[in-house]
Amino acid sequence: MELKSEKEIGSLRVAGRLAAELLDACCREAKPGITTSDLDVFAAEWIKSHGAKPAFLNYRGFPAHICVSINEEVVHGIPGSKKIRVGDIVGIDVGLFYDGWCGDTARTVAIGQISADAQKLLEVSRQSLEQAIQAATMGNRLGDVSNAMQSVVESAGFNVVRHYGGHGIGRQMHEDPHVPCLGTPGTGMRLKDGLVLALEVMANRGVAEVSHKPDGWTVLTEDGSLSAHFEHMVAITSRGTEVLTRI
Ligand code: MG
Repeated sequence: MELKSEKEIGSLRVAGRLAAELLDACCREAKPGITTSDLDVFAAEWIKSHGAKPAFLNYRGFPAHICVSINEEVVHGIPGSKKIRVGDIVGIDVGLFYDGWCGDTARTVAIGQISADAQKLLEVSRQSLEQAIQAATMGNRLGDVSNAMQSVVESAGFNVVRHYGGHGIGRQMHEDPHVPCLGTPGTGMRLKDGLVLALEVMANRGVAEVSHKPDGWTVLTEDGSLSAHFEHMVAITSRGTEVLTRI
């Protein structure tokens, strides 16, 4: 596990801000009738025109620039010919490198009018990430952060995904520690000055269990229920916790 200096956090702030701008742009572009592949092309051009490099493309063989996961798709959806439709919830996860530092952020957006159930899932998942950010302060433990996510999601009658989570981030997209979406307060590593984490909430309307599409990447809810994904990068320091991917 690597702790970052003030200067390094400054570099991550720039990369995080750029990733946040890319995510905003992709969310604005996610309109009914366009394909997830159209969205990927848009992201590819955006990344290039801003002097950044895609973080997901070719990562362990991932074939696209962003992940787009619709409705029962949890995370890691591969952009393709599927069209975005009114009533969908669309999870967009973006990652880029700028000047050698990684920015990684995600959120799930509503396309037009969505069901009350879907709306509640989005609100609860967003709130879960906010609570996790509140818990991610110097001196707290990793289990406090994970438990904050889990508590909000489970209190609403939903479930967090067990097998995926957040991560440390820096010059590498995925660094130690792994940050699960569930945990026990007062357990796990103590959060130290200079720790930068990408906190990720993955919440399912139904069961926690997931399965995979034959494409080897797309994660699905096992019962076909809706799923939402929100991710922010945070820098934990003695001066407080800063969200690096909030505009
Ligand atoms: Mg991530």
